[in-house]
Parts: sequence; structure tokens; C-alpha cells
Amino acid sequence: MNKVLYPGSFDPITKGHMNIIEQATNLFDEVIVAVLVNLSKKNYFFSTDERVNMIKEIYKHNPKVKVISSTMAAVDVAMENDCQGIIRGLRSVSDFDYEIALSQINKNISDKKVNTICLFADSNYQFISSSMVKEVFSFGKDISLYVHESVEKRMKEKMEF
Ligand code: ADP
Repeated sequence: MNKVLYPGSFDPITKGHMNIIEQATNLFDEVIVAVLVNLSKKNYFFSTDERVNMIKEIYKHNPKVKVISSTMAAVDVAMENDCQGIIRGLRSVSDFDYEIALSQINKNISDKKVNTICLFADSNYQFISSSMVKEVFSFGKDISLYVHESVEKRMKEKMEF
């Protein structure tokens, strides 16, 4: 069985992430979406559980997508879950420079067991990022083009508190 890990912050999951997940599920038997907790980053909009639950809700009818969270490094989560690869989405040249360095480090740490597979989002979704979604939302603008309706609903609910 070909299993891959798709790690990230997903704060929140966007249609860019969803496009990468869709492509990954067409290529592999199982895609484990891992919400990773970066302990040095404290200003998340959603808690880890909220981020995990939003992704679970979207993929509740897709048996190929599993959702987990971890405070470990992505490469360790990949090895722990027997994933042969780590999926990363590329948006720009600046993503590329970072990802190529990370992929080499992860290959070394895993003794060449975990490779990185880079995918590109379809053009409509290519430039969507979680930070852009939060910024547009903070100005009271419509974000339905960028996130699943259940995420938009959760963001609105959160602002009511
Ligand atoms: P991170 O904090 O690891 O960058 P993100 O949640 O921002 O976590 O993103 C997770 C992964 O998804 C990264 O590989 C990122 O480049 C990719 N990604 C995010 N948005 C897009 C998009 N619109 N198109 C392609 N890849 C994307």
C-alpha cells in the first residue's frame, strides 16, 4: 500500500491544500494529513483540535484521507506511520528553495526511506494561503472562493466570541 504524509499548519485548511490532497489521493492509496504543532509559533487562529476537526469534517466520506496531529518533526511522523513519502505543495520559487533544503534534510534523517513529492495546485488555487485567507477575513470580506464552506462557518463562529 502506498501511503504518504501531507504535513502542515493548516490554520485553516484552504482550497489550495484541498487541491493538493485531491491530487495526492489520485496518486496514492492513503494520504495522512498531519496537523503539525510548531511549539515556537504561538499565534495560531485555530487550536490544533479545531484544525484537525475541520479537516476530518471535510473528508469524513473519503476513506483514503486520514487526519492526525503531532508535535514531532514531519519526517518522524512519516516513519512512525510507515509513509514512503512526504507531500509538499509548491506555490512559488521561494517555496522551492525552502522545500529542496528540507527534502535533503529529511532524506538524510530517514536514511533515504522518506522522499519528498512536490505537487502544484491548479492555477485557480495556486496562490491561496492560510495567512491570506485570515487577512481577507479580518477585513470582513468574502472568503468562500478560498475555503470550504464549513471552514468559513467556523471562522465566523469564532469571531462571534
Ligand atoms: P506550513 O506551515 O508547513 O507551510 P501550510 O499549512 O501553510 O504549512 O502548508 C502546508 C503545505 O501545503 C506546504 O507544502 C505548502 O507549500 C502547501 N500549500 C499551501 N497552500 C498551497 C497552495 N495554494 N498551492 C500549493 N501548495 C500549497
